[in-house]
Amino acid sequence: MATERTLSIIKPDATRRNLTGSINAVLEAAGLRIVAQRRVRLTQAQAEAFYAVHKERPFFRGLVEFMISGPVVVQVLEGDNAVARNREAMGATDPKKAASGTIRAQFAEDIEANSVHGSDSAENAAIEIAFFFAQVDIVG
Ligand code: GDP
Repeated sequence: MATERTLSIIKPDATRRNLTGSINAVLEAAGLRIVAQRRVRLTQAQAEAFYAVHKERPFFRGLVEFMISGPVVVQVLEGDNAVARNREAMGATDPKKAASGTIRAQFAEDIEANSVHGSDSAENAAIEIAFFFAQVDIVG
């Protein structure tokens, strides 16, 4: 299996409820190693740029407002098939549809305030990691 890296974001609904450690415990139990991590307050421009692929979607404005409503924790996760492994640990976008035991089933408030972001492909992971981290910040 290939060792990969993926970008994860612990979203404002989760930082507000002090869930960073609980979410990290699920990620680590899933076999992912947190090789970089930083707590940041996104600017509107950063949130718009990060979610640019969604700019035509009806939920784009609300999503940007939500993502700047409080601090987030951006992190790089490393492990075998890290992209898919993290998506599995996260659960479905809508927490009502997320499998039990997943982060979103346990912690998400609703389809928007769903506690975590995770890259959806290796290609996007590389782009998203570079959005937040320099090589020197990532310690494998
Ligand atoms: P993800 O890859 O599972 O995070 O889902 P998407 O890439 O499709 O959507 C990005 C983010 O937009 C989601 O994690 C949610 O925070 C938000 N989102 C997605 N779909 C909806 C929706 O139908 N309504 C609202 N309000 N937000 C949504």
